[in-house]
Amino acid sequence: MLVADKLNLNGIGMTSQRTRERLLGRLIDQGISSIEVLDVMRSTPRHIFLDEALAHRAYEDVALPIGHNQTISQPYIVARMTEAVLTSGPMESVLEIGTGCGYQTAIIAQLAKKIYSVERIKSLLNRAKKNLRMLRLRNIDFKHDDGSLGWKRKSPFDAIITTAAPKQIPSELLQQLNPVGGRLVIPVGGDDRQDLKLIRRDGDEYSESYLCSVRFVPLLVGQLLN
Ligand code: SAH
Repeated sequence: MLVADKLNLNGIGMTSQRTRERLLGRLIDQGISSIEVLDVMRSTPRHIFLDEALAHRAYEDVALPIGHNQTISQPYIVARMTEAVLTSGPMESVLEIGTGCGYQTAIIAQLAKKIYSVERIKSLLNRAKKNLRMLRLRNIDFKHDDGSLGWKRKSPFDAIITTAAPKQIPSELLQQLNPVGGRLVIPVGGDDRQDLKLIRRDGDEYSESYLCSVRFVPLLVGQLLN
């Protein structure tokens, strides 16, 4: 049974199942083909991650503001990042940098055995925890910290997903990848141009592929906020 059905979070009006099916059609049109990813995108209510005033736009394929100058990621990009790591190897242990409102966390939590998520803004993290509890997702550990350092104690990770963009890939994240096929999906670049990259580790070798052009908020280093 779908998470949303169990919890009666299907919503009404603009957040109805029909509106959501339209979004699913868009994801398929844009090339998302993993059935597992599409199923989870279909069953996860996005409107609960937004302020009431924006909830009616939850199933548009756009990033939207969540306060603190941050955004909830565009559904297509969430699906693309998730598909990139899911279809390239195991998902026993996954690290997410940039919990935000917790939407991407919710998607990954349903596809991975365990997810660790780090956020530098405490009030966003608290809101994310509440949202994810509402969805009864319990395989998540959270940390209020600078995620550019990864989460060394819990490493290595089969996959690391970064939802904020550094100018350059932090070496700590590369080091915390599982040496046997660990993957990192990360937007890299500045305000003018960012590339979404998929890095794969095999021992001391790292291979990189380009996924698409993106626009994420910057990965800020060393400043924690309440
Ligand atoms: N994953 C979210 C998107 C969040 S936006 C979603 O599913 O919609 C990116 C988040 O990264 C913001 O909440 C921002 O505060 C956080 N962030 C930026 N720099 C960070 C850092 N160094 N460590 C941890 N989180 C960071």
